Amino acid sequence: MTPPSAWGVLAERLAATQRRVRSLESEPDRRNSFLPYTVERDSAYAEFEGSRLLMMSGYSYLGLAGDERVVAAAKSAVDTYGTGNHGVRALAGTIPLHEELEAEIARFAGREAAIAFGSGYAANVGTVGGLVGAGDTVFIDKYDHASIVDGCRLSGAEVTRFRHNDVEHLGRRLAASRTRGLRLVIVDSVYSMDGDIAPLPQLRRVCDEHDALLMVDEAHALGVIGASGGGIEDHFGGEVRVDVKLGTLSKAIPSMGGWVAGDQALIGHLRYAARPFLFSAALAPAQAAAALESLRILRAEPERVAHTQHESARLRDLLSAAGLRTAASETAVIPLIAGGDETAYDFATACRHEGVIALPVVTPAVPNDLARLRIAVTARHSKADIDFAAEAFLKAARTSAVLPS
Ligand code: PMP
Repeated sequence: MTPPSAWGVLAERLAATQRRVRSLESEPDRRNSFLPYTVERDSAYAEFEGSRLLMMSGYSYLGLAGDERVVAAAKSAVDTYGTGNHGVRALAGTIPLHEELEAEIARFAGREAAIAFGSGYAANVGTVGGLVGAGDTVFIDKYDHASIVDGCRLSGAEVTRFRHNDVEHLGRRLAASRTRGLRLVIVDSVYSMDGDIAPLPQLRRVCDEHDALLMVDEAHALGVIGASGGGIEDHFGGEVRVDVKLGTLSKAIPSMGGWVAGDQALIGHLRYAARPFLFSAALAPAQAAAALESLRILRAEPERVAHTQHESARLRDLLSAAGLRTAASETAVIPLIAGGDETAYDFATACRHEGVIALPVVTPAVPNDLARLRIAVTARHSKADIDFAAEAFLKAARTSAVLPS
């Protein structure tokens, strides 16, 4: 028998992807992926195919995407430095703005130093790979972000998963580990699909008991949890510290990029050991300037954090009181559980008909029968926007049989 041609094998894989996408998004009204939205600069509304819809699935938690001060900072950086850089950071790619941004991140994170990566994804892959390798063991929460999982795989370390937010299970895994190398526990501060928070004090205790380092990904925590939006340490009162703190500049901070913060020795090491930092181009000037300005605004305007926290709690209460399941959410990320994948798509379509963009997340990104709309409250949402959204979600839930009509 002749072996299949390389193109034949690939064609089968391509067709399988097509079949899956088509089964969910076959009708025009059910399309949800890769759609172009133009979100207004000064509101939470977006233009989509001639309609004006309330965006309820965006990540700009502090409502700073489009902020005129952030836009002005980015424009000014382009005027000064141009659009790109002159290479990687270690060579000709570093500009003064990178150093200013890293100092601001370090200050925000309460650490001595920080480095900025091209994305949050790169920050995870680079940091994990820079910290552990063959002979070490990483312990990751079952719901950790894909970039943590990919970083672990690439690092060559042994990887052990523990049940979501289950510190006892983690303790058993740590106790059973026979590694002679480093033990590193990595969690998301806020889980992006459920909106729940990692139990930091208990995690710290179990890590100390078993001589493990603790790293957190603050992607959905920065600007979202803690009295001043400082993230998970702030949320738990500032007493408990993590060993390695990392985050992104693409959500509450409306730019692109990622970061890791720590003491001088750790960051000095990662400058050379984190491969996506060492071998990939430096952050573009406009991105660095936008991130820097946003961090300054976050420090000056903590009321943005308070507004988002208040309105997300209010929305969650309104929806759960009416029977919608919001999983374990306790942050601005609120899942609306629909059930099966098809139902989640119908729910999203019904929301659009009610004037709201609420995007579905289906298997394999979430467990079977827990397909959902993943919504997020931002500081751009007024009280009236949240009231409108709540009503739209409840009507749409009835139309799509998520709730009885
Ligand atoms: N970590 C978490 C928890 C995330 O949700 C994301 C983005 N969805 C990332 C990291 C990656 O960040 P970025 O989009 O900046 O690459």
